[in-house]
Amino acid sequence: MKAAVVEKAGEGFVLQDIDIAEPADREVLVEVRAAGLCHTDLTLATHNPGRLPLPLVLGHELAGVVVALGPRAAAFGVGDHVVGCLVQWCGACAACHDGRTYQCAHPEATLRDPARDRPRLSRDGEPVTQGMGLGGFARHALVHENQLTSVPREMPFAPAALLGCGVLTGVGSVFNGARVAPGESVAVIGAGGVGLSAVSAARLAGASPIVAIDVQDGKLERARAFGATHVVNSARTDAVSAVRELSGGGVRHAFDLVGTAATADQALRMTGLGGGIHLVGLAPGGAELRLSLPRLLLEQKRVQGLIMGAGDPRRGITRCADLYLRGELPLDELVSRRIALADLDAGYAALADPDVARVVVTSF
Ligand SMILES: [Zn+2]
Ligand SMILES: [Zn+2]
Repeated sequence: MKAAVVEKAGEGFVLQDIDIAEPADREVLVEVRAAGLCHTDLTLATHNPGRLPLPLVLGHELAGVVVALGPRAAAFGVGDHVVGCLVQWCGACAACHDGRTYQCAHPEATLRDPARDRPRLSRDGEPVTQGMGLGGFARHALVHENQLTSVPREMPFAPAALLGCGVLTGVGSVFNGARVAPGESVAVIGAGGVGLSAVSAARLAGASPIVAIDVQDGKLERARAFGATHVVNSARTDAVSAVRELSGGGVRHAFDLVGTAATADQALRMTGLGGGIHLVGLAPGGAELRLSLPRLLLEQKRVQGLIMGAGDPRRGITRCADLYLRGELPLDELVSRRIALADLDAGYAALADPDVARVVVTSF
């Protein structure tokens, strides 16, 4: 099978032939039709911060068609259209029973046991690491059924691929994490793919005003098209005073999609009395947020970290697909460029262009 393999961190993706196992147990073999280029995969490919064993097949935003099923896979049939998600959940722990599958205690239950089973991916008999249990930068992906969600066949593959990571995160953070209500004011710091999805969800939730903040005018223009009522270029304007003025003293919800000490602090200061600071993005390196306890208490603020939209991924992906098909959630506008699997390096380079929202592999 053709796959884009990371041989050495920092040396890009190399198209190669590798072996993929037959589906066992609850595994599903998916013919990949679209795979989104997420920044997290680029970080893993260039710096490999988690020290994943190399060689490695990344790609955690995939959509495709089910072509074979393991003997105990029951959630899908051959021919179903599915979307992958990096959230790994066992279905048996207390968190899973509670519906908090994104906080599962045994994510490893979705993977093969390296001590006992032969690997899903291999080359010349040696294991090839499958990124996040998905490995979508390949012609096929062998995935535990819990990491897949079916989507209607009329949903095109390229926008479908975006559902499992960035869109789920942006939309879920607004609906599940912050529970934005009609009329509430929202600020979104960072107008990349996740930020635009958060703006879309804020619009759907009836929020007003919706202020998008970024340092690039191109991204801010796109945010307006997605539903931002106001935009602030924080390279030129003090974002905190601008947002406080636009919202009459501070917003009800501030989402930080960037994840630096500076943006988290802006989020804290641009919220009003009783406001929520929702930390969604994470910049590499680790940053700290300084909080004044008396101010936090007296201003009745809450600070929370949100991962993968803080909701059950199947429910979230199904809801987003439905909103897209009803014309309420713009996704086609996020797909700026479609590339071939062989052109991953160029595709990632294109993401540096502020006019490019997302890049998706559609030819394998
Ligand atoms: Zn991602
Ligand atoms: Zn679990």
